[in-house]
Amino acid sequence: MGKFVSRCKLCREHFVIDRSRMKKPRDDPRIVHLQEVHKIPTIRLDDCFETLREDKAMKAKEAPIEIRSKYPRKFVFRDVDRETILSEGEATKALLPIHHIGDAGREYWKGVERLEHKRGLREFRFMYWTRKIGQKNWNWGQFNLCLTDEQLNQLINSMKKEGWLH
Ligand SMILES: [Zn+2]
Repeated sequence: MGKFVSRCKLCREHFVIDRSRMKKPRDDPRIVHLQEVHKIPTIRLDDCFETLREDKAMKAKEAPIEIRSKYPRKFVFRDVDRETILSEGEATKALLPIHHIGDAGREYWKGVERLEHKRGLREFRFMYWTRKIGQKNWNWGQFNLCLTDEQLNQLINSMKKEGWLH
C-alpha cells in the first residue's frame, strides 16, 4: 500500500519507501543517504535510485517459487528435552497470501501451513517466511505470527477459496 523498495545505484543499499508517511522531502531516507553517504547535494533521486520491480509472483499475490518449492516438508514436534518425539508428519502445503515489507528492511510472506500428523491429526500452523531485502535465502519464521484484522480476514478468505474453511 504505497510502499516500495528502492535501491541505491551507487552502493546497492536498499530502502523501504512509504510515501504516506512523508510530510516533507527530507523525510525521504534516500535524500539523507545521498547527502551523507555520497555527498551529493542536489536531489536527483531518479538518477541515483532504481525501484525494484515486483516479480510476477508478487503481483499475483503468490509467494515466490523458492518458498513454494519447499513443500511438502517434514515436521517434528519434540518435547523440551529434545529427545522425546511428541508428533511428526508433513506440512503438505502452505498458503501465503500476505506479502509485507517491514520498516526494518525485512520482507515477509505470511500465511498458514496444513499439517498432516502421522497419527491422523490435521492442524493449521500460522507462520511466515522472511529475509532481509536484497538477500537470496528465505528463513522460516522463528517467532509467532502476528496479524492485523485486515490480514486475518485476507487469510480466512484464502482458506475458504481453497476449501479448508466453510
Ligand atoms: Zn548509496
